[in-house]
This record gives sequence, C-alpha cells and structure tokens, in this order.
Amino acid sequence: MSRRVSILGCTGSVGKSTLDLMERADPGTYEFVALTAHSSVQELAGMALQYRPEVAVIADADRYEELARLLKGSGVEAAAGPSALVEAASRPVEWTMAAIVGAAGLEPTAAALQQGSIVAIANKECLVCAGDYFMRLAKERGARVLPVDSEHNAIFQSIYPGHDDHIRRIILTASGGPFRDWPREKMATVSREDALAHPVWSMGAKISIDSATLMNKGLEVIEACRLFGLAPDRVDVVVHRQSVIHGLVEYIDGSVLAQLGSPDMRIPIASTLSWPERMETPAEPLDLAAIGQLDFEPPDENRFPALRIAREALIAGEGATAALNAANEIAVAAFLDEKIAFLDIPRLVSECLEALDKQQSLPSRFSGMEAALAVDQSARRLTSRLVNGS
Ligand code: NAD
Ligand code: MG
Repeated sequence: MSRRVSILGCTGSVGKSTLDLMERADPGTYEFVALTAHSSVQELAGMALQYRPEVAVIADADRYEELARLLKGSGVEAAAGPSALVEAASRPVEWTMAAIVGAAGLEPTAAALQQGSIVAIANKECLVCAGDYFMRLAKERGARVLPVDSEHNAIFQSIYPGHDDHIRRIILTASGGPFRDWPREKMATVSREDALAHPVWSMGAKISIDSATLMNKGLEVIEACRLFGLAPDRVDVVVHRQSVIHGLVEYIDGSVLAQLGSPDMRIPIASTLSWPERMETPAEPLDLAAIGQLDFEPPDENRFPALRIAREALIAGEGATAALNAANEIAVAAFLDEKIAFLDIPRLVSECLEALDKQQSLPSRFSGMEAALAVDQSARRLTSRLVNGS
C-alpha cells in the first residue's frame, strides 16, 4: 500500500531533502498528492513530472499559465495562488511536510493539521506566529505534529511522552553562525554573501540570515516553548560550534538525554517520515574520534541582540512573537535586497515591536488564526515603513 504524502515547499532545501529520502525508497512506497512552491515554476514542473502528484501548486498566481503549459498532457493538475495552496494542503494524506518558509506557511500548514494526520513541521515561523493555536488545533483534530527543526527533533527524540513533570529544562544548541568569532564593529560591515555562508548547515536564504543574526535561535526558543508546552525560563541555549549535539533534555534527577548526529537535515526528516519506526538514511555516520572535541559556550547577547529581543517577545506573549516574526521577515528580505545593513536587522525588529506596543495592545494569546494574521500584517507594514526611513 502506498503512503499518501504532500510536500509544501518542495523546491526548498528541506523540501528537496525530503524528496531525496523518498526517492531512495522502493517504487510505489509513496503516492504524491500535492507538491507546492512559491515562484520557481520550472523546478516545480520538473518535480511534478518526476513524482506525478495529483496537483502541483505555484503560490505566485502570475506563473499559472507557465505551469499549466509545462504540465499539459501529464495528468498532473496545475493550480496557483494562496487559496489553491490551502486547498491542496487539505487534500487527504497520511503525512505532510510543512516546509514553506515564513508566515506564508501559516494557512497551508493549518489546513494540513485540519486533516488530523501526521504533519512534519519545518516551518518554524508558523509556530512562532501562532504556535499555541496550532498545537490546540492539532489536539482538537487528532493530528500528530512532528518537529523537523534539528534541535526540536532532538528534544522530541529525547523526551518520554506523558512525563512533563520529570523535565527540569531543555537545551537547544546553536552553531553560532558565520560571525560567532567576529567583534561587533566588524559585524557592521557584513555583506549578503558573508551572511549567507553558514559554517555548518546548507539551508535556504532566510534561515541562513537568521542563523547569522542568531534570530534563528530566538525563533527556536519560542518554537520549543510552543511545541513542548514549556515556560520560557525552561528553555536554554548553548553555542556548540560542531553542531553534533542538536538538543538536550535535563531531567529532575540530573540525567541529561541528548540526540547526536551529523549535521544533515535528512536525519531529522527521516525520523518524522518513519515515526514511530526508524529508516536508513545516506547521512554520514557520526565519527566522534575524528571530530575529537566538542565545544560549548554561552551565547553572547551583546553581539547578538536578536536572541534577547526574541526572549522578551516570548515573555510578552503571542502578539509580540507574531510581530517579531513578521518584522524579522521584512528586515531579512531588505538585507537580502541590500537595502539595509546587517546590524539594522535586530534594530528594526526591536523598533517595530516598541512602536507596535505603543500603537495597539498586542494580545498575549490568540484565539484564532485571523488575529495572528492581523498582527502579522501590521508588523509588516510598520517594518516596511521603517526600512524606507519614513
Ligand atoms: P527555502 O527558502 O530553501 O525553501 C522554501 C520553500 O517555500 C520553497 O519551496 C519556496 O518555493 C516556498 N515558498 C517560499 N515563499 C513562499 C510563499 N510566499 N508561498 C508559498 N511557498 C513559498 O527554505 P528552507 O531552508 O527549506 O526552510 C523551510 C522552512 O524550514 C523554514 O521555515 C526554515 O526555518 C525551516 N528549517 C529549515 C532548515 C534547513 O536546513 N534548511 C532547518 C530547520 C528548519
Ligand atoms: Mg534549527
């Protein structure tokens, strides 16, 4: 029996690693239902012709004609635009990979959860924006959320379900990004290329920049609290440059359980794909003797203020984390467009949060997704104005 699967964000780094694993399985193991992408229409069409899903969706509606032309006669349905994305994500499947980047993944990921099946979530921004709502939705619908982010997947693997009172705290590791050893003055001159060159992981552009500012770790602290239902003071971060240990759980008796592995996203993805079993992957086996040494140090919140800003938003509540996420998305896009400097990213996020807080009272908890989307939109507008200096 084939397993019905959908991949939201199939042309991205996580999407491709997912397909890489699926391609290695016996023919007929998977039946593809939806493959989706933002604007890389040629790549999406190539994947659709290879994997033959029921539907291929391009989020950018202007590319519909091209997609339809490329898929003509193939039997694969072509669709476009945000509502088509949500419709495709709601088609019945047993397993969905939610790997869209940014809050754009919010509605499609919620649609996948509505089905009540397994949703592997890489799209951390949707948990930062509306994580409590997502976890409530999953519970109501009987869906199983499996974290793909390597740190959260490590924690998930190291936790015994139903024994939350045994946990003292969890620890997320951070590689420290490309500027972990740079003085702050030098960080003012960082170029787009410097920031995109991650020392350990190969990832999409947005998360690479987030890793360089350490906002990624801030988003991950928020993600962890929402996924595992923990208070902010029970989630710590340690810089571990080798990225061999991905996450640790400290228990009340002093035992610490961790998950280790080569820095290869196919390992956490495989754990969600085979859950609750295990499957083989082509990832390099971990050779501790060859690595020789594992280093740990506390994160430096003076050089990397994003981590502190994210923690403050987490304490303030869901309205603040949704605004943080949106402001960061706009600031990162502006940095990638070379409109602002690297150190402007955390500065603009902080300014947006302060200004929004004065304008409106940000809710500490969202009752539904509409409220989250409204805060997301206000923060985007405000940060865009800040970027343009008005
Ligand atoms: P990526 O930029 O490589 O790919 C993003 C995917 O989303 C692409 O398929 C793209 O077409 C699609 N997309 C982008 N904007 C969209 C929009 N507006 N509407 C619909 N689709 C859109 O990103 P990635 O590195 O694969 O990361 C995906 C998600 O996984 C992110 O949330 C990231 O934080 C998370 N994540 C990634 C890694 C990694 O190693 N790459 C690790 C942990 C978590
Ligand atoms: Mg991570």
